[in-house]
Amino acid sequence: MDRPGIIRKTAADLRLPPNLADYEAQCRAFSWDRARAALQGLPGGGLNIAFEAVDRHAAGPLAGRTALRFVARDAPALELSYGELARQSHRFAQVLRGLGVGKGARLFVLAGRIPELYVAVLGALKQGAVVTPLFSAFGPEPIATRIRLGAGEVLVTTDALYTRKVRAMRAQMPTLRHVLLVAEDGGSTNEPDTLDLAALMAVAPDDAVAISTTADDAALLHFTSGTTGAPKGALHVHGAVVTHHATGRYALDLHPEDRYWCTADPGWVTGMSYGIIAPLLHGVSSLVDREEFDAERWYGLLEQERISVWYTAPTAIRMLMKAGVEAARRHSYPALRFVASVGEPLNPEAVWWGKEALGLPIHDNWWQTETGGIMIANTPAFDIKPGSMGRPLPGIEACIVEHLEAVGEPPRVRIVEQPDVEGELALHAGWPSMFRGYLDNEARYRKCFAGDLYLTGDLARRDADGYYWFVGRADDVIKSAGHLIGPFEVESALMEHAAVAEAGVIGKPDPVLGEMVKAFVSLKAGHTASEALRLDLLAHARKRLGAAVAPKEIAFLATLPRTRSGKIMRRLLKARELGLPEGDTSTLEAGA
Ligand code: AMP
Repeated sequence: MDRPGIIRKTAADLRLPPNLADYEAQCRAFSWDRARAALQGLPGGGLNIAFEAVDRHAAGPLAGRTALRFVARDAPALELSYGELARQSHRFAQVLRGLGVGKGARLFVLAGRIPELYVAVLGALKQGAVVTPLFSAFGPEPIATRIRLGAGEVLVTTDALYTRKVRAMRAQMPTLRHVLLVAEDGGSTNEPDTLDLAALMAVAPDDAVAISTTADDAALLHFTSGTTGAPKGALHVHGAVVTHHATGRYALDLHPEDRYWCTADPGWVTGMSYGIIAPLLHGVSSLVDREEFDAERWYGLLEQERISVWYTAPTAIRMLMKAGVEAARRHSYPALRFVASVGEPLNPEAVWWGKEALGLPIHDNWWQTETGGIMIANTPAFDIKPGSMGRPLPGIEACIVEHLEAVGEPPRVRIVEQPDVEGELALHAGWPSMFRGYLDNEARYRKCFAGDLYLTGDLARRDADGYYWFVGRADDVIKSAGHLIGPFEVESALMEHAAVAEAGVIGKPDPVLGEMVKAFVSLKAGHTASEALRLDLLAHARKRLGAAVAPKEIAFLATLPRTRSGKIMRRLLKARELGLPEGDTSTLEAGA
């Protein structure tokens, strides 16, 4: 169907006056100092994410408002008010205090979307611990790797996840002092070398702990994947809360009476920043669905829970599209006023589908683990150009740069002033949620900057109206169902299999997942390719890595194409897989 290239907004599209009504004027007037002043701050000038998200509201008229509403298929809904969330997170902070876990200690959470996870994250932040979420669908390998790299001292998880994924690997996590278990059946646990969280919470006081963090103290450590090597830990500080607040205001357009639903799992950065922190900062009520994706269920929730602002992801939208527009139309969404999406390119059809199915276009926005918050967005008042990520938010100065040398250290770049030129997307440093380092890898951090420009690793272009268009990644990382997957981590797990000599992993375009993980392997002498071996390799990878990370397809090759210096040429594997031109193969090893 022929569609116009732009969706023009009129006053009739806006149910409420948008927080970002006059883009140019508000960008000009914006300052991060003023954005900071919209928060309360700790007495004495400190800053703490959880204090702003919960305690500040619990001490005022919002104490009784629902902060989080947990729903599940076979259990009654459970609601935590701001007051209750403050008390429970105080209690958790007291538990940590009792265990001698103080400021700067690294705490990991590994759980489904259970109330205890939210309480633990907020309580740990108040106690000054540095929180790292782990995705509950990770296998034992990615969990152990991250806890080891992050020198985790505390792990909060469930009894079932612990026995399935952690127990056997415990020796590989020597820094782990305390494992706090939540019994999935609601009872208690008595697993050796662990503590029962419910029992500790029951005897902990719910008096507030004295919070002593400043804007520059570490708060969150998010692991992200690169092309080579182990996952990188991106370190964020409590000052990031200013970005979380400002972007909740402008990009998600949160208003006090909103009922908000972020479908991202808190095991990933979006679920943490926009599933937990940003909505609480705005004092709104959030829905947390404990179940996995189900089109009919989701439409039902949007309707029955009277969701007004919905933040989801392209893969989920494409799955809804697959279920057909009729499924959406069996419900009505009178409360819904704004829908946004993040994490991967949102195809123009998906933007239009929103209009047909939900009565609202989908608003794409862009950010990444390192930026700590949404940087570029389509906000309610913007005309939408379907396929574009939108425009930089107030306080964010984006640009397109071209590299002056292929490899240089530090990188040297030139800002491309003219529109419609493809280059690397860069941001002028200085927004509060910018990551402050990669854990134990200062050199890698420095490589991300050219002077005061942060280089995102994404290729994009800016049009004459200042809208940004995503072109692709500058590296080989894979985005599958919105999750960033490092090919190296997958290749390493495959190489642990006795039959595998070498492995090369690529992202193969997939109509629903965006990209799916595909692996190519060559076998050691004495092993022959067979369907049974292929299935065995798939199962091996799934067991080690978990379903979210493991390859969905594996193909055998006699040898993998390598550069003369020995690096597997993933780009060539991908070009061959997709029947695309092979590009520059001058560094290809002879015979590959
Ligand atoms: P992560 O650090 O896991 O959040 O992944 C960040 C990466 O996801 C970005 O660098 C982009 O490559 C991709 N990404 C995020 N949002 C978008 C978007 N709206 N459009 C296209 N790619 C996106």
